[in-house]
Amino acid sequence: MKAAAELILKPGKERSLLRRHPWLYDTAIGRVKGTPASGETIAVRSHDGRWLAWAAYSPSSTLRARCWSFAETDRIDASWLAARVHEAVARRAHLAAASDALRLVFGEADGLPGLIADRYADQLVVQFQAAGVEAHRETLLDALVAATGCANIFDRSDSAGRTREGLPPTFGVARGAEPPPRIGIREHRRRSWVDVRAGHKTGYYIDQRDNRELASELAKRARAQLGRPVTALNCFCYTGGFSVALAAGAGEVLSIDSSAEALALARENWQLNGLPEAGGQWQAANVFDALRSLRTDGRAFDLIILDPPKFAASHHHVDRAARAYKDINLSALRLLAPGGYLLTFSCSGAIGVELFQKIVAGAVIDAGVEALLLRRLAAGEDHPLRMTHPEGEYLKGLLLQRL
Ligand code: SAH
Repeated sequence: MKAAAELILKPGKERSLLRRHPWLYDTAIGRVKGTPASGETIAVRSHDGRWLAWAAYSPSSTLRARCWSFAETDRIDASWLAARVHEAVARRAHLAAASDALRLVFGEADGLPGLIADRYADQLVVQFQAAGVEAHRETLLDALVAATGCANIFDRSDSAGRTREGLPPTFGVARGAEPPPRIGIREHRRRSWVDVRAGHKTGYYIDQRDNRELASELAKRARAQLGRPVTALNCFCYTGGFSVALAAGAGEVLSIDSSAEALALARENWQLNGLPEAGGQWQAANVFDALRSLRTDGRAFDLIILDPPKFAASHHHVDRAARAYKDINLSALRLLAPGGYLLTFSCSGAIGVELFQKIVAGAVIDAGVEALLLRRLAAGEDHPLRMTHPEGEYLKGLLLQRL
């Protein structure tokens, strides 16, 4: 076997790797020994030759290398990669009781930087978002089939991230047969259709599983407390996951989304769960405007969900995003009945937990209401955060109760 190419870092630039942070930016690199191809495994050394890590080289990205391992004795071959896949799948085994829609591999957290693998019943959907995992595509697909027993894998590597890695978008069957137009999944007691071709991400917001279950519990709790079916508002409803969950205690759920296709599937999901037609209201609108109109109409809700798309694509957009989060939270708080619950989320990685809480606190002050923070919320256990890679944290939420 030929010796691996090497990245020699600039003096002092070894510090983050000694803390086992997996990312290396181009600015940290002193020189490259050899001519590694895109995705090739390289050895990373400090300026004075000290061995640091095995990493995957990505020549076109400013994120020039992502570490596989900090153990010199490791060999990043098919069996090493398969072991990471098997471990990731095994770690989630206990979640099968809650749902058959699970994230099985979550990139850096599972030691496979840039690889996403989601399971929807017997269908797997993958995203190869970095040069390293792309170079081992076939090995990783084989390992996923072996670890799950699922023969069918669909590739949704059509997101923007690949362009930065110098990789073309890819989309289509990666293993087995074409997926059906929709796949039926189960999440707790609820069912949903998932469109893995046209849906967002790999088709569904798997990360909100626990929070949808919490919404269902809160709806039941509020109904018991108030002695009547509650009224609920689900903003940015997508395919209606929270809407169906809220129906556990709500007599009426108003769901808003700007996408007509998402709303159409949301309505079907409502029916799929045997919910009464009259209990679901669907509005195709911009949430920012719709919340203002609801206020003008004098409406109030016992339970409100705010689960917007990522407002801050990067650190450059934090200020504008903060204003947008403030706006919708302020509007929602003005519509919240006394005693009512607000579940509010941000999936912008650039907005940290503390900042998000500050923004929402600002909205509480401006709305002139009193509210208690009952719980901090996050993605489910199938989206773990590797403690040495804080960038992996993105979804955060707050459960507030208005006094
Ligand atoms: N809560 C959902 C996921 C929400 S994803 C779930 O549990 O599945 C965000 C949704 O917001 C998408 O469906 C998108 O179509 C919608 N959206 C984005 N901007 C919007 C806007 N300004 N007004 C209304 N909907 C919007």
